Amino acid sequence: MDIDKISFNIILLILIVALIFYNLWKIYQNENDLVISNDKAAEFAVAKTRFLTTMSHEIRTPLNSVIGFSEQLSQSALSKDQAAQLTAIRSSSAMVLDLVNDILDFSKYEAYRVNLEIAPFSLMDCISEVVHIMAIQAVQKGIELKTDISFGKDFCVVGDTLRLKQLVMNLLSNAIKFTERGSVKLKADVKLTKGNQLILKAWIIDTGIGIDEVNLGRIFDEFAQVNYLPSQFRHKGTGLGLAICKKIVEFQNGEINVVSELDKGSIFSFSIPYEICDNKISAVESPPTIDLATLVGKRILLVDDNIMNILLAQTVISKHQLFADVAYNGQEALALFEQNQYDLILTDIEMPIVNGVVLSKAIRSCSDAVKRNTPILGVTAHLLAEDRLLYKSAGMNDLISKPFSEKELMDKIALQFT
Ligand code: ADP
Repeated sequence: MDIDKISFNIILLILIVALIFYNLWKIYQNENDLVISNDKAAEFAVAKTRFLTTMSHEIRTPLNSVIGFSEQLSQSALSKDQAAQLTAIRSSSAMVLDLVNDILDFSKYEAYRVNLEIAPFSLMDCISEVVHIMAIQAVQKGIELKTDISFGKDFCVVGDTLRLKQLVMNLLSNAIKFTERGSVKLKADVKLTKGNQLILKAWIIDTGIGIDEVNLGRIFDEFAQVNYLPSQFRHKGTGLGLAICKKIVEFQNGEINVVSELDKGSIFSFSIPYEICDNKISAVESPPTIDLATLVGKRILLVDDNIMNILLAQTVISKHQLFADVAYNGQEALALFEQNQYDLILTDIEMPIVNGVVLSKAIRSCSDAVKRNTPILGVTAHLLAEDRLLYKSAGMNDLISKPFSEKELMDKIALQFT
Protein backbone atom coordinates (compact mmCIF):
# COMPACT_ATOMS: atom_id res chain seq x y z
CA MET A 1 0.00 0.00 0.00
CA ASP A 2 1.51 3.36 -0.97
CA ILE A 3 1.91 6.30 1.37
CA ASP A 4 -0.80 8.35 -0.36
CA LYS A 5 -3.37 5.60 0.12
CA ILE A 6 -2.44 5.14 3.80
CA SER A 7 -2.72 8.87 4.52
CA PHE A 8 -6.00 8.99 2.62
CA ASN A 9 -7.34 6.14 4.78
CA ILE A 10 -6.10 7.80 7.96
CA ILE A 11 -7.71 11.10 6.96
CA LEU A 12 -10.92 9.22 6.12
CA LEU A 13 -10.82 7.44 9.47
CA ILE A 14 -10.22 10.74 11.30
CA LEU A 15 -13.15 12.26 9.41
CA ILE A 16 -15.41 9.33 10.26
CA VAL A 17 -14.39 9.43 13.94
CA ALA A 18 -14.90 13.22 13.97
CA LEU A 19 -18.31 12.77 12.39
CA ILE A 20 -19.27 10.12 14.96
CA PHE A 21 -18.08 12.40 17.79
CA TYR A 22 -19.93 15.34 16.26
CA ASN A 23 -23.15 13.32 16.06
CA LEU A 24 -22.69 11.96 19.57
CA TRP A 25 -22.16 15.52 20.82
CA LYS A 26 -25.30 16.66 18.94
CA ILE A 27 -27.32 13.82 20.51
CA TYR A 28 -25.94 14.79 23.93
CA GLN A 29 -26.80 18.45 23.26
CA ASN A 30 -30.35 17.55 22.23
CA GLU A 31 -30.77 15.26 25.24
CA ASN A 32 -29.40 17.97 27.47
CA ASP A 33 -31.76 20.56 25.97
CA LEU A 34 -34.59 18.10 26.46
CA VAL A 35 -33.62 17.52 30.11
CA ILE A 36 -33.36 21.29 30.66
CA SER A 37 -36.72 21.93 29.02
CA ASN A 38 -38.28 19.04 30.99
CA ASP A 39 -36.80 20.45 34.19
CA LYS A 40 -38.15 23.85 33.25
CA ALA A 41 -41.59 22.39 32.52
CA ALA A 42 -41.55 20.61 35.89
CA GLU A 43 -40.40 23.81 37.64
CA PHE A 44 -43.14 25.71 35.86
CA ALA A 45 -45.78 23.17 36.92
CA VAL A 46 -44.63 23.43 40.55
CA ALA A 47 -44.66 27.24 40.38
CA LYS A 48 -48.12 27.11 38.83
CA THR A 49 -49.38 24.89 41.66
CA ARG A 50 -47.92 27.26 44.25
CA PHE A 51 -49.56 30.19 42.51
CA LEU A 52 -52.92 28.42 42.36
CA THR A 53 -52.64 27.37 45.99
CA THR A 54 -52.00 30.97 46.99
CA MET A 55 -54.88 32.17 44.82
CA SER A 56 -57.15 29.52 46.27
CA HIS A 57 -56.16 30.71 49.75
CA GLU A 58 -56.98 34.29 48.82
CA ILE A 59 -60.36 33.26 47.40
CA ARG A 60 -61.20 30.83 50.16
CA THR A 61 -60.71 33.35 52.97
CA PRO A 62 -63.48 35.75 51.90
CA LEU A 63 -65.52 32.76 50.72
CA ASN A 64 -65.33 31.47 54.28
CA SER A 65 -67.18 34.59 55.42
CA VAL A 66 -69.77 34.43 52.62
CA ILE A 67 -70.56 30.75 53.24
CA GLY A 68 -70.34 30.96 57.02
CA PHE A 69 -72.47 34.06 57.47
CA SER A 70 -75.09 32.87 55.00
CA GLU A 71 -75.34 29.65 57.03
CA GLN A 72 -75.86 31.72 60.18
CA LEU A 73 -78.41 33.96 58.43
CA SER A 74 -80.33 30.95 57.11
CA GLN A 75 -81.02 29.96 60.73
CA SER A 76 -82.80 33.25 61.45
CA ALA A 77 -86.38 34.23 60.63
CA LEU A 78 -86.48 35.41 57.02
CA SER A 79 -89.19 36.57 54.66
CA LYS A 80 -89.87 34.41 51.60
CA ASP A 81 -87.94 36.82 49.36
CA GLN A 82 -85.00 37.03 51.73
CA ALA A 83 -84.87 33.25 51.98
CA ALA A 84 -84.82 32.96 48.16
CA GLN A 85 -82.05 35.57 47.89
CA LEU A 86 -80.05 33.78 50.56
CA THR A 87 -80.45 30.47 48.72
CA ALA A 88 -79.01 32.18 45.62
CA ILE A 89 -76.03 33.46 47.62
CA ARG A 90 -75.45 30.02 49.12
CA SER A 91 -75.59 28.13 45.84
CA SER A 92 -73.41 30.72 44.04
CA SER A 93 -70.77 30.56 46.74
CA ALA A 94 -70.88 26.76 46.66
CA MET A 95 -70.23 26.96 42.90
CA VAL A 96 -67.23 29.25 43.40
CA LEU A 97 -65.89 26.83 45.98
CA ASP A 98 -66.29 23.90 43.55
CA LEU A 99 -64.43 25.85 40.91
CA VAL A 100 -61.55 26.69 43.23
CA ASN A 101 -61.35 23.06 44.36
CA ASP A 102 -61.33 21.75 40.77
CA ILE A 103 -58.60 24.11 39.64
CA LEU A 104 -56.48 23.31 42.64
CA ASP A 105 -57.00 19.58 42.26
CA PHE A 106 -56.11 19.61 38.58
CA SER A 107 -52.96 21.64 39.13
CA LYS A 108 -51.81 19.20 41.81
CA TYR A 109 -52.00 16.36 39.29
CA GLU A 110 -50.13 18.45 36.71
CA ALA A 111 -47.31 19.06 39.14
CA TYR A 112 -47.33 15.38 40.27
CA ARG A 113 -48.07 16.55 43.79
CA VAL A 114 -50.71 13.98 44.51
CA ASN A 115 -50.16 11.50 47.27
CA LEU A 116 -52.23 8.41 46.68
CA GLU A 117 -53.62 6.78 49.78
CA ILE A 118 -52.68 3.10 50.09
CA ALA A 119 -55.15 1.44 52.41
CA PRO A 120 -57.51 -1.57 52.30
CA PHE A 121 -61.07 -0.83 51.29
CA SER A 122 -64.17 -2.58 49.99
CA LEU A 123 -64.75 -1.85 46.29
CA MET A 124 -68.45 -2.50 46.71
CA ASP A 125 -68.83 -0.16 49.72
CA CYS A 126 -66.88 2.58 48.00
CA ILE A 127 -68.97 2.47 44.80
CA SER A 128 -72.31 1.98 46.60
CA GLU A 129 -71.68 5.00 48.79
CA VAL A 130 -71.35 7.22 45.71
CA VAL A 131 -74.37 5.64 44.01
CA HIS A 132 -76.36 6.28 47.16
CA ILE A 133 -75.48 9.99 47.11
CA MET A 134 -76.10 10.36 43.37
CA ALA A 135 -79.46 8.57 43.56
CA ILE A 136 -80.93 11.74 45.11
CA GLN A 137 -79.96 13.78 42.03
CA ALA A 138 -81.32 11.10 39.69
CA VAL A 139 -84.64 11.00 41.54
CA GLN A 140 -84.89 14.79 41.36
CA LYS A 141 -84.52 14.59 37.57
CA GLY A 142 -86.86 11.64 37.21
CA ILE A 143 -84.12 9.39 35.86
CA GLU A 144 -83.62 5.78 36.83
CA LEU A 145 -80.21 5.02 38.36
CA LYS A 146 -79.35 1.34 37.94
CA THR A 147 -76.39 -0.72 39.08
CA ASP A 148 -74.96 -4.03 37.96
CA ILE A 149 -72.04 -4.92 40.20
CA SER A 150 -70.59 -8.40 39.87
CA PHE A 151 -68.64 -8.59 43.14
CA GLY A 152 -69.62 -8.77 46.78
CA LYS A 153 -69.30 -6.50 49.78
CA ASP A 154 -66.28 -8.11 51.42
CA PHE A 155 -64.16 -7.96 48.28
CA CYS A 156 -61.16 -6.04 49.57
CA VAL A 157 -58.46 -4.21 47.61
CA VAL A 158 -55.60 -1.90 48.54
CA GLY A 159 -55.60 1.61 47.13
CA ASP A 160 -57.07 5.08 47.30
CA THR A 161 -60.75 4.91 48.11
CA LEU A 162 -61.32 8.68 48.00
CA ARG A 163 -59.91 8.97 44.48
CA LEU A 164 -62.16 6.14 43.29
CA LYS A 165 -65.15 7.86 44.87
CA GLN A 166 -64.22 11.16 43.21
CA LEU A 167 -63.91 9.42 39.83
CA VAL A 168 -67.23 7.57 40.04
CA MET A 169 -68.92 10.68 41.43
CA ASN A 170 -67.70 12.86 38.52
CA LEU A 171 -68.77 10.36 35.88
CA LEU A 172 -72.15 9.63 37.46
CA SER A 173 -72.85 13.30 38.04
CA ASN A 174 -72.09 14.09 34.36
CA ALA A 175 -74.24 11.19 33.21
CA ILE A 176 -77.18 12.46 35.28
CA LYS A 177 -76.51 16.09 34.31
CA PHE A 178 -76.57 15.34 30.57
CA THR A 179 -79.53 12.94 30.61
CA GLU A 180 -83.05 14.30 30.49
CA ARG A 181 -84.96 11.05 30.18
CA GLY A 182 -84.25 7.34 30.42
CA SER A 183 -81.61 5.95 32.70
CA VAL A 184 -78.07 5.97 33.95
CA LYS A 185 -76.44 2.67 34.73
CA LEU A 186 -73.25 1.82 36.55
CA LYS A 187 -71.81 -1.57 35.69
CA ALA A 188 -68.74 -2.84 37.51
CA ASP A 189 -66.71 -5.98 37.20
CA VAL A 190 -63.31 -7.29 38.31
CA LYS A 191 -60.82 -9.31 36.31
CA LEU A 192 -58.22 -11.29 38.23
CA THR A 193 -54.73 -10.91 36.77
CA LYS A 194 -51.32 -12.24 37.77
CA GLY A 195 -50.38 -12.74 41.42
CA ASN A 196 -52.72 -11.02 43.79
CA GLN A 197 -53.72 -8.28 41.38
CA LEU A 198 -57.05 -7.48 39.82
CA ILE A 199 -58.41 -4.93 37.41
CA LEU A 200 -61.55 -3.04 38.32
CA LYS A 201 -63.58 -2.29 35.21
CA ALA A 202 -66.53 0.07 35.29
CA TRP A 203 -68.92 1.46 32.74
CA ILE A 204 -71.19 4.46 33.25
CA ILE A 205 -73.90 4.20 30.65
CA ASP A 206 -76.43 6.94 30.00
CA THR A 207 -79.25 7.58 27.57
CA GLY A 208 -78.52 11.31 27.46
CA ILE A 209 -77.65 13.90 24.84
CA GLY A 210 -74.45 12.16 23.71
CA ILE A 211 -71.30 13.78 22.32
CA ASP A 212 -70.46 14.28 18.64
CA GLU A 213 -67.30 12.87 17.06
CA VAL A 214 -65.44 16.19 16.86
CA ASN A 215 -65.79 16.85 20.57
CA LEU A 216 -65.30 13.25 21.60
CA GLY A 217 -61.60 13.44 20.71
CA ARG A 218 -60.90 16.31 23.11
CA ILE A 219 -63.40 15.60 25.82
CA PHE A 220 -60.73 14.65 28.38
CA ASP A 221 -58.74 17.86 27.75
CA GLU A 222 -58.85 20.49 30.45
CA PHE A 223 -61.58 23.12 30.10
CA ALA A 224 -63.22 21.10 27.29
CA GLN A 225 -66.91 21.82 27.01
CA VAL A 226 -68.82 21.09 23.86
CA ASN A 227 -70.09 24.24 22.23
CA TYR A 228 -73.32 23.00 20.67
CA LEU A 229 -75.00 22.21 23.97
CA PRO A 230 -78.65 23.13 24.34
CA SER A 231 -79.06 26.11 26.67
CA GLN A 232 -80.26 24.07 29.68
CA PHE A 233 -76.85 22.30 29.82
CA ARG A 234 -74.61 25.33 29.30
CA HIS A 235 -72.40 26.87 31.99
CA LYS A 236 -73.03 24.15 34.51
CA GLY A 237 -69.44 23.15 35.10
CA THR A 238 -65.81 24.05 34.79
CA GLY A 239 -64.80 21.66 32.02
CA LEU A 240 -62.24 20.21 34.42
CA GLY A 241 -64.19 17.20 35.71
CA LEU A 242 -63.18 14.76 32.98
CA ALA A 243 -59.61 16.06 32.85
CA ILE A 244 -59.36 15.29 36.58
CA CYS A 245 -60.93 11.84 36.00
CA LYS A 246 -58.27 11.10 33.38
CA LYS A 247 -55.49 12.16 35.77
CA ILE A 248 -56.96 10.06 38.61
CA VAL A 249 -57.07 6.97 36.40
CA GLU A 250 -53.68 7.45 34.77
CA PHE A 251 -51.99 8.15 38.10
CA GLN A 252 -53.06 4.64 39.09
CA ASN A 253 -51.87 3.08 35.82
CA GLY A 254 -55.39 2.68 34.50
CA GLU A 255 -57.27 3.71 31.39
CA ILE A 256 -60.34 5.79 30.71
CA ASN A 257 -62.40 5.81 27.52
CA VAL A 258 -65.64 7.02 26.06
CA VAL A 259 -67.93 6.00 23.23
CA SER A 260 -70.89 8.14 22.45
CA GLU A 261 -73.57 8.84 19.91
CA LEU A 262 -75.35 12.14 19.60
CA ASP A 263 -78.91 12.01 20.96
CA LYS A 264 -78.51 8.36 21.97
CA GLY A 265 -76.18 8.49 24.96
CA SER A 266 -72.65 7.86 26.17
CA ILE A 267 -70.63 5.12 27.78
CA PHE A 268 -67.69 6.25 29.87
CA SER A 269 -65.53 3.35 30.99
CA PHE A 270 -62.41 3.02 33.08
CA SER A 271 -60.15 0.30 34.38
CA ILE A 272 -57.76 0.53 37.33
CA PRO A 273 -55.44 -2.18 38.63
CA TYR A 274 -55.53 -2.87 42.37
CA GLU A 275 -53.75 -5.22 44.68
CA ILE A 276 -56.08 -7.69 46.38
CA CYS A 277 -56.05 -7.33 50.12
CA ASP A 278 -55.49 -10.48 52.20
CA ASN A 279 -57.12 -9.31 55.39
CA LYS A 280 -60.78 -8.65 55.79
CA ILE A 281 -61.43 -4.96 56.26
CA SER A 282 -62.03 -4.08 59.85
CA ALA A 283 -65.46 -2.62 60.30
CA VAL A 284 -65.33 1.12 59.80
CA GLU A 285 -65.14 2.77 63.18
CA SER A 286 -68.15 4.94 63.71
CA PRO A 287 -67.16 8.47 64.69
CA PRO A 288 -67.52 9.17 68.41
CA THR A 289 -70.83 10.77 69.31
CA ILE A 290 -70.22 14.37 70.20
CA ASP A 291 -72.19 16.05 72.93
CA LEU A 292 -71.82 19.79 72.37
CA ALA A 293 -73.36 20.50 75.79
CA THR A 294 -70.09 19.39 77.39
CA LEU A 295 -68.40 22.37 75.77
CA VAL A 296 -70.48 25.00 77.55
CA GLY A 297 -68.24 27.45 79.41
CA LYS A 298 -64.98 26.46 77.71
CA ARG A 299 -62.58 29.31 77.07
CA ILE A 300 -61.19 29.64 73.57
CA LEU A 301 -58.47 31.89 72.20
CA LEU A 302 -59.33 32.97 68.65
CA VAL A 303 -56.37 34.10 66.56
CA ASP A 304 -56.89 35.58 63.09
CA ASP A 305 -55.88 38.80 61.35
CA ASN A 306 -59.12 38.82 59.37
CA ILE A 307 -61.86 40.53 61.33
CA MET A 308 -64.61 38.77 59.33
CA ASN A 309 -63.22 35.35 60.21
CA ILE A 310 -63.03 36.35 63.88
CA LEU A 311 -66.60 37.59 63.80
CA LEU A 312 -67.83 34.37 62.20
CA ALA A 313 -65.99 32.08 64.65
CA GLN A 314 -67.18 34.25 67.56
CA THR A 315 -70.80 34.08 66.36
CA VAL A 316 -70.67 30.29 66.15
CA ILE A 317 -68.93 29.57 69.42
CA SER A 318 -70.83 32.09 71.53
CA LYS A 319 -74.05 30.54 70.21
CA HIS A 320 -72.90 27.30 71.87
CA GLN A 321 -72.06 29.22 75.08
CA LEU A 322 -68.29 29.05 74.88
CA PHE A 323 -66.21 32.14 75.71
CA ALA A 324 -63.73 33.68 73.32
CA ASP A 325 -60.77 36.02 73.63
CA VAL A 326 -59.49 37.52 70.41
CA ALA A 327 -55.98 38.12 69.10
CA TYR A 328 -55.23 39.57 65.67
CA ASN A 329 -51.80 37.96 65.26
CA GLY A 330 -49.56 35.41 66.94
CA GLN A 331 -47.77 38.01 69.06
CA GLU A 332 -51.00 39.25 70.63
CA ALA A 333 -52.03 35.63 71.09
CA LEU A 334 -48.85 34.79 72.98
CA ALA A 335 -49.38 37.74 75.32
CA LEU A 336 -52.92 36.55 76.12
CA PHE A 337 -51.73 32.95 76.41
CA GLU A 338 -49.17 33.98 79.08
CA GLN A 339 -51.81 35.77 81.18
CA ASN A 340 -54.69 33.29 80.89
CA GLN A 341 -55.54 29.62 80.87
CA TYR A 342 -57.36 28.52 77.69
CA ASP A 343 -59.12 25.25 76.92
CA LEU A 344 -58.34 25.52 73.21
CA ILE A 345 -56.64 27.78 70.69
CA LEU A 346 -58.16 28.25 67.27
CA THR A 347 -55.61 29.89 65.03
CA ASP A 348 -55.29 31.05 61.45
CA ILE A 349 -51.97 30.18 59.80
CA GLU A 350 -50.95 33.17 57.72
CA MET A 351 -50.81 36.26 59.90
CA PRO A 352 -48.52 39.28 60.19
CA ILE A 353 -45.79 39.56 62.85
CA VAL A 354 -46.10 36.02 64.27
CA ASN A 355 -47.88 33.41 62.14
CA GLY A 356 -49.79 30.32 63.25
CA VAL A 357 -46.85 27.94 62.81
CA VAL A 358 -44.50 30.06 64.96
CA LEU A 359 -47.27 30.56 67.51
CA SER A 360 -47.88 26.80 67.79
CA LYS A 361 -44.17 26.08 68.23
CA ALA A 362 -43.95 28.75 70.95
CA ILE A 363 -46.94 27.25 72.78
CA ARG A 364 -45.48 23.75 72.57
CA SER A 365 -42.23 24.95 74.14
CA CYS A 366 -43.90 26.75 77.07
CA SER A 367 -42.40 25.85 80.46
CA ASP A 368 -45.83 25.31 82.09
CA ALA A 369 -46.77 21.68 81.30
CA VAL A 370 -50.56 22.26 81.42
CA LYS A 371 -50.44 25.30 79.16
CA ARG A 372 -47.97 23.60 76.84
CA ASN A 373 -50.54 20.92 76.10
CA THR A 374 -53.44 23.25 75.24
CA PRO A 375 -55.12 21.82 72.14
CA ILE A 376 -54.45 23.89 69.01
CA LEU A 377 -56.73 23.82 65.98
CA GLY A 378 -55.29 25.37 62.82
CA VAL A 379 -57.67 27.00 60.37
CA THR A 380 -56.31 26.74 56.86
CA ALA A 381 -57.18 27.20 53.24
CA HIS A 382 -54.04 25.28 52.23
CA LEU A 383 -54.94 21.83 51.10
CA LEU A 384 -51.54 20.52 50.06
CA ALA A 385 -50.48 17.47 52.07
CA GLU A 386 -47.01 18.94 52.66
CA ASP A 387 -48.49 22.09 54.24
CA ARG A 388 -50.74 20.04 56.51
CA LEU A 389 -47.75 17.98 57.59
CA LEU A 390 -45.82 21.15 58.41
CA TYR A 391 -48.67 22.53 60.53
CA LYS A 392 -49.06 19.30 62.46
CA SER A 393 -45.34 19.03 63.08
CA ALA A 394 -45.41 22.60 64.45
CA GLY A 395 -47.73 21.28 67.18
CA MET A 396 -51.27 21.74 65.87
CA ASN A 397 -53.54 18.90 67.03
CA ASP A 398 -55.88 19.11 64.08
CA LEU A 399 -56.75 21.29 61.11
CA ILE A 400 -59.99 22.68 59.89
CA SER A 401 -60.38 23.72 56.26
CA LYS A 402 -61.76 27.03 55.15
CA PRO A 403 -64.58 27.45 54.46
CA PHE A 404 -66.07 25.51 57.36
CA SER A 405 -69.64 24.99 58.43
CA GLU A 406 -70.89 25.51 61.98
CA LYS A 407 -71.08 21.76 62.49
CA GLU A 408 -67.57 21.15 61.18
CA LEU A 409 -66.11 23.77 63.53
CA MET A 410 -68.02 22.61 66.60
CA ASP A 411 -67.29 18.92 65.91
CA LYS A 412 -63.57 19.63 65.53
CA ILE A 413 -63.54 21.57 68.80
CA ALA A 414 -65.53 18.86 70.58
CA LEU A 415 -63.18 16.13 69.31
CA GLN A 416 -60.37 17.71 71.32
CA PHE A 417 -62.31 17.01 74.53
CA THR A 418 -63.40 13.40 73.88
P1 ADP B 1 -68.05 19.98 33.31
O1 ADP B 1 -67.69 20.19 34.72
O2 ADP B 1 -68.14 21.24 32.51
O3 ADP B 1 -69.20 19.07 33.12
P2 ADP B 1 -66.43 17.83 32.39
O4 ADP B 1 -64.97 17.78 32.12
O5 ADP B 1 -66.95 16.93 33.43
O6 ADP B 1 -66.76 19.32 32.71
O7 ADP B 1 -67.21 17.57 31.05
C1 ADP B 1 -66.78 18.29 29.90
C2 ADP B 1 -67.89 18.29 28.89
O8 ADP B 1 -68.08 16.97 28.39
C3 ADP B 1 -69.23 18.68 29.46
O9 ADP B 1 -69.39 20.08 29.52
C4 ADP B 1 -70.17 18.05 28.44
O10 ADP B 1 -70.25 18.87 27.32
C5 ADP B 1 -69.43 16.78 28.03
N1 ADP B 1 -69.91 15.58 28.75
C6 ADP B 1 -69.37 15.01 29.84
N2 ADP B 1 -70.05 13.92 30.23
C7 ADP B 1 -71.09 13.80 29.36
C8 ADP B 1 -72.17 12.89 29.22
N3 ADP B 1 -72.31 11.83 30.05
N4 ADP B 1 -73.04 13.09 28.22
C9 ADP B 1 -72.88 14.13 27.36
N5 ADP B 1 -71.87 15.02 27.44
C10 ADP B 1 -70.99 14.88 28.41
